[in-house]
Amino acid sequence: MDATAPQVTAELFAIPLGESWMVYAPLREAAFVANSATVVRIADLRAGRAIPDDEDSARLLELLRELGIVDGGPEVPPITSFQGDPRPTSCTLFLTTGCNLRCTYCYASAGDTPLRSMPLEVAQRGIDFILANALELGADSIEVNYHGGGEPSLNWRTLTGSWEYASGLANSHGLLLRSAMATNAVLPPEKAEWMMSHLDGVSVSFDGVPEVHDKHRLTVSGQGSWDAVCRTLRAFDERDFNYGLRLTATADMLSRLPESIAYICETFQAAKIQVEPVYQLGRWKNEPSAETLEFLTVYRQAQAIAASHGRELYFSGARLGVLTNHFCGVTQDSFCLTADGSVSGCYEVFLESNPLAKTFIYGQAQKSGEMTFDLPVLNQLRQQSVDQRPYCSGCFAKWSCGGDCYHKALDVNGTQEFEGTDRCHIIRELTKDQILDRISGSGGLVWSGADVEPQLLPRGM
Ligand code: SF4
Ligand code: SF4
Repeated sequence: MDATAPQVTAELFAIPLGESWMVYAPLREAAFVANSATVVRIADLRAGRAIPDDEDSARLLELLRELGIVDGGPEVPPITSFQGDPRPTSCTLFLTTGCNLRCTYCYASAGDTPLRSMPLEVAQRGIDFILANALELGADSIEVNYHGGGEPSLNWRTLTGSWEYASGLANSHGLLLRSAMATNAVLPPEKAEWMMSHLDGVSVSFDGVPEVHDKHRLTVSGQGSWDAVCRTLRAFDERDFNYGLRLTATADMLSRLPESIAYICETFQAAKIQVEPVYQLGRWKNEPSAETLEFLTVYRQAQAIAASHGRELYFSGARLGVLTNHFCGVTQDSFCLTADGSVSGCYEVFLESNPLAKTFIYGQAQKSGEMTFDLPVLNQLRQQSVDQRPYCSGCFAKWSCGGDCYHKALDVNGTQEFEGTDRCHIIRELTKDQILDRISGSGGLVWSGADVEPQLLPRGM
């Protein structure tokens, strides 16, 4: 090989865009739109073949060098990995499997599963463990979060007691306590008041306009919960409290998503709005998927509406700007305690009787206070990061997607080798939108983390 020949030094993807292509180098945070002839020249360069000695090649090489795609030095993939016993400084407490709602699409089938409520002592074991880790590691904060399997605020004693306990410990050691929770926001005003004065933020499940929300988010007695949620959101807004909304999109209500987003943006101050197609799990196991082309269409419309109000709409798998080999905490020692004191890596696995408990439950908070771990189970979770997934290796979205939800993958593919899911198409399309947005926001020709002069583009690209 000619040592002076241009070397392609970036991982590169050519993504079809109708008649043209988008060339994307994720680890250089660079992309541009090109025609087929340019893509062929880049493919030739990558294969070490000669390209025509003409002005277009000279300009192309100049651009690729500017972007670090040619002769740019080695790339460092964004890979973090974990070994040995986990040392989390953050814990998520699954306070209860009980719920005051009976949402039709509840992934947890809350209300139908055995009722488990976390005693305060179990929460304290988890908090003691993360505090000890924080002190040993020299961290400046600990984090205690409250999540589902049910509505966390129903276990009020352990919620408030664990927060007081964590706060007291953190204060006495000069550490900061961060704390957040997921809630359905169907709460008496005094509970909302407590959240505002003790937590850093909450994520509220809310589906938008009343007919959409009340179709699926029902109380135990079958009434709509919209009024109650709005009352809480108004209280949050009056105090400028930090909260986000999470909308679940079901197939029957997809067409109303843009309307719901417009309503939310006009009515509430939520900092961030997350939209996810319904998860076919729990009570929605045998119901229609919303991971469809229609989801993409309405999501794009909703996103434009949110942007026109200066709000951020997001879908978990499409997050250009993040460079990671992880989708969520499941591959990076996420430490969640079930009500009975089992250590789970996954928000969906909050009961020892869950069908995937053997895959996701990797430890136990013993009554003695000792934390014991099943390292083979934990190591198997650690191996699910995107860099270890053969199917994902050729996907242009891999370093922002991180391999998507492992629980979902198991649901769709079982224990066989991962072969993609319907969500992959949504992730790739929305990531492509984000790259095109960056290109258009950078003058319409080239997007780059570095400053690049657009006039360097070859003619006809
Ligand atoms: S594996 Fe999926 S369900 Fe489990 S915590 Fe991660 S994103 Fe959530
Ligand atoms: S193939 Fe699917 S899961 Fe894997 S990185 Fe791409 S979009 Fe994510």
